[in-house]
Amino acid sequence: MIWNPQYECQGAEERRLLQLARLKNLVETLYSRVPFYKAKLDSAGVHPRDVKSLADIAKLPFTVKDDLRETYPYGLLACPQAEIEEVHMSSGTTGVPVVDAYTRFDIECWEEGMARTLSGAGATRHDTVQVAYGYGLFTGGLGAHYGAKRVGATVIPMSSGNTPKQLMVMRDFGTTVIACTPSYALFLAEEAKESGLDPKSLKLRAGCFGAEPWSENMRKQIEAAWGIDAYDIYGLTEITGPGVAFECECKDGMHVSEDLFYPEIIDPESGRPLPDGEKGELVFTTLVKEGTPLLRYRTRDVTFITRGTCACGRTTAKIHRLFGRTDDMLIIRGVNVFPSQIEHALIEIEGTDPNYLIVLDRGESHLDEVELQVEVKKELFTDETRSLESLRNKIEAVMKSKLGIQLKVKLVEPKTIERSIGKAKRVIDRRKI
Ligand code: ADP
Ligand code: ZN
Repeated sequence: MIWNPQYECQGAEERRLLQLARLKNLVETLYSRVPFYKAKLDSAGVHPRDVKSLADIAKLPFTVKDDLRETYPYGLLACPQAEIEEVHMSSGTTGVPVVDAYTRFDIECWEEGMARTLSGAGATRHDTVQVAYGYGLFTGGLGAHYGAKRVGATVIPMSSGNTPKQLMVMRDFGTTVIACTPSYALFLAEEAKESGLDPKSLKLRAGCFGAEPWSENMRKQIEAAWGIDAYDIYGLTEITGPGVAFECECKDGMHVSEDLFYPEIIDPESGRPLPDGEKGELVFTTLVKEGTPLLRYRTRDVTFITRGTCACGRTTAKIHRLFGRTDDMLIIRGVNVFPSQIEHALIEIEGTDPNYLIVLDRGESHLDEVELQVEVKKELFTDETRSLESLRNKIEAVMKSKLGIQLKVKLVEPKTIERSIGKAKRVIDRRKI
């Protein structure tokens, strides 16, 4: 099902003209309305009139996550605040969050992107879509919700968690499409079996899975466990949330909604644009966003772009399944976590040394499990076990409230965590995904 053939199947030349007109308009808007961007463009020595072709985008400055943090909360607003209808923020950041502020038109574009995404998975008004991404500031839940409403499906706004109820609702309401993280999809299948419910006996036939890295192997596992088609979907808060790119029935790369988001691949070291087919860092420019439009936002996600007419009929560029990131950001149960955030939280807790190791694994449950090994001061080890126990509880509570993730703390004696020369190794990722 192609939701919007006009844009999804547009001819290459026509699309380029549309993108150029939108890019010019964007740069003019940013230059005249957002002092942050005026300064950025001025110091790069470019003026909106210098954008004459799409290739000229390479002359424009990048935007990075820190720019968004430094301008928190409303420094990148490109419209009067009264026009803002809704605000979202990126998941799990301890420090300053990254904000996406949406006007009515921005919400409509978000719905459009997610309607295309769900249609890619074959969803129509005859479907019942269970949204098991978290609702709230996180963009996953509401993004999928808006898109499902747009295609006219019946929406079940479950949000994440409460597994027995997810299964009950799925069975009783005959859910046909689920939207959640891929690891949760596997976990749900296991739980269903455990509770005596055969996942294959349910009406579920498709799932839109994203917000965290996964693999072809996981796709096979999910499809086999549920007897469904599993589709990879991609998005990020900064650009709009989910609905930026999605797989069609070919399951061979994710179609980018190029009329809304202009993709580039760059060499992460030099910042130079790379040709199609070459692996590098994905960069997005929002072409029509009104609230917080972004110029050449560096996603830190690694992939490559392919172009041409897909067997599904769409002509939009595709990005390959993500290979990883150029920074050290971890995605733990869908929550974005930087090791530095754990470090900052630890420093404030008395009795610990800033020597720690994060060990990630996926156990039987298929969900991410985190062990945080922390070195404690010598005195504490000679002390009673009670104070060790309370320190452990305290660290777990602090991490839960500051990072939004549940982890197990293991206190270790001083100097037991291996020291490395140069950059400390803070993460051991044993997750087989
Ligand atoms: P969300 O988790 O809603 O997609 P966030 O802004 O919290 O949005 O996180 C965005 C990041 O999540 C992306 O930059 C990417 O690293 C990761 N991500 C999102 N979708 C996928 C996907 N399908 N595969 C791999 N990683 C993904
Ligand atoms: Zn396709």
